Amino acid sequence: MRILIVSDLHANRTALDAALDAAKGRWERALCLGDIVGYGPDPNEVTAKLRELQALTIRGNHDKAVGGLMPTDDFNPVARAAAEWTRAQLRPENLEFLRALPPGPIETDGLVLVHGALHDEDEYVFTPAQALEGLLDSGGPVTFFGHTHHQGGFSYQDSELEVLQLRPRAAERFAALRIEPSRRYLLNPGSIGQPRDGDPRAAFAVAELDHQIVEFWRVPYDISSVQARMRAAGLPEALVQRLAIGR
Ligand code: ZN
Repeated sequence: MRILIVSDLHANRTALDAALDAAKGRWERALCLGDIVGYGPDPNEVTAKLRELQALTIRGNHDKAVGGLMPTDDFNPVARAAAEWTRAQLRPENLEFLRALPPGPIETDGLVLVHGALHDEDEYVFTPAQALEGLLDSGGPVTFFGHTHHQGGFSYQDSELEVLQLRPRAAERFAALRIEPSRRYLLNPGSIGQPRDGDPRAAFAVAELDHQIVEFWRVPYDISSVQARMRAAGLPEALVQRLAIGR
């Protein structure tokens, strides 16, 4: 079975459509690691599209904040402004869908899903030290996480932790990782709607479980059209600018 794994969509429908076009015919089942909304201009369209895909979805911190399930005190001012704008835009059925999303970790098809860290859905995993806990304590050998918006990950065997550089180069669409049965993996598909690893292309992963291959994809999309919708909606300019640089 081939599984599409998306994360941090952040209400960017142009990026999501480009990713789904590129992945067409390459997957049978979809998983989502949370942050469906927040920052971007299309919260209803992206939530509706995700529901249509019937993706098994866990919640992210932005889904919780927009749904009123956590205070936005910890958010920086632009994130808070976007969360408030998003809440006002969402149709009741989409808001209800976001509010009902389960937290990670969830296990499915032998994969473990979390939004942030294994033991704290709101915690970031950037460094090997932060990754170690998830690698050792996870209920399965392959765990997918999001939240950082950085594509890539970590693997572990015999007390040695390796940082995996898996981002496709500018001319490439994807980079493939072979899963070795003796190792443990903590993998981030990257962000669909707001990449922050220096590559502005939409990011996602496709896991080919029969052959133990995970593909890490990057797909260009029309960033300026999303920026135009953000400006028309009055979303903070800092959020508009960062899409073009992928930071
Ligand atoms: Zn996010």
